[in-house]
Amino acid sequence: MAEQQEKNLILRSITKRFGDVEAVQDVTLEVRGGEFFTLLGPSGCGKTTLLRMIAGLEIPDNGQVLLGGDDITNLPATKRQVNTVFQSYALFPHLTIFENVAFGLRSRKVANDEVGKRVYRRLEMLGIQEMAQRKPHQLSGGQKQRVALARALVNEPDVLLLDEPMSALDAKLRGQVQVELKRLQRKLGKTFILVTHDQAEALVCSDRVAVMRRGKVIQYGTPEEVYDIPVNRFVAEFLGAANLLTYQVAEGGVQTPVGFLKLDRDAPKPEGTLAIRPEWIRISEEEPPVNGVRATVRETIYRGTNFDVWFDPGPIRVRTSSYKHFHPGDQAWLKLAPEELVVLDD
Ligand code: ATP
Repeated sequence: MAEQQEKNLILRSITKRFGDVEAVQDVTLEVRGGEFFTLLGPSGCGKTTLLRMIAGLEIPDNGQVLLGGDDITNLPATKRQVNTVFQSYALFPHLTIFENVAFGLRSRKVANDEVGKRVYRRLEMLGIQEMAQRKPHQLSGGQKQRVALARALVNEPDVLLLDEPMSALDAKLRGQVQVELKRLQRKLGKTFILVTHDQAEALVCSDRVAVMRRGKVIQYGTPEEVYDIPVNRFVAEFLGAANLLTYQVAEGGVQTPVGFLKLDRDAPKPEGTLAIRPEWIRISEEEPPVNGVRATVRETIYRGTNFDVWFDPGPIRVRTSSYKHFHPGDQAWLKLAPEELVVLDD
């Protein structure tokens, strides 16, 4: 544990500009040694630029990068205990899988038998040892992705950077690889930093997530924290479906477009926005004792594992696992429980 803590990665007030574009603005983060940390945000929010500064492929205009207490801000990429798996995998097409993985060890003049041992250990760990003599074009997307991981891990970096490494995989394979990646990270106990714009991927893989927008970190915390208690509209909507309700403070609660609702704490501002996730709303035939909304079904959408039912007033979206089919015009009570209503900053 103490050893892992020594490998904490600290980004202190990092700023990076490209001409007029402030790609990263005053970002401060601490990634703990041995954790799976994800930079999540829409295209252009600065996550890749931040990753490249950790890798040493860009130098910040301001701020510091510290690894295990050492200032590595200006240290060349090759001198850092950091390896990157790129989106394109960047495998050498003319080399076998074995030689692709061995490349870093060979350039560091590691002895031949040691190279063999270490390369096979990683290939076996990732289940691709039978492919050792193939060339990259003879592999599937998922297999190439494993080779890229093996190649980065064979150098035993303190920090592994993953720049959208699953974006070339189809949806089903991506789901499997996400779980594998998380298991691998737990087994190795190394720090993994993943860049993605896919919120589901971030929630599956990470110990903690930093949600970025326009060069800034808007919120960071465990997947549960950012999903359950988003700080603002952007985070609430980026991390999944959210019902957003404007409110005005009233006696004992708030007035909203769907009626009067109680909160489990005082609203911080006289007016603002509340969020509630569609799967947190309960549907009942009886009027709930608090925060019941009499509602009419507008539309239902079947999603395989559940239904999304859109109700008036609102529309309020409710995600239900119920086999009960709702039809437009059906009436029901919705319960928007006080403890499920999140008051947003903006
Ligand atoms: P994506 O998911 O699309 O890769 P991102 O969140 O990783 O996006 P960055 O690639 O970090 O975003 O880019 C952040 C901003 O900086 C963008 O506006 C981008 O156009 C700009 N930018 C990035 N690299 C450069 C560069 N080398 N020269 C000029 N502008 C750049």
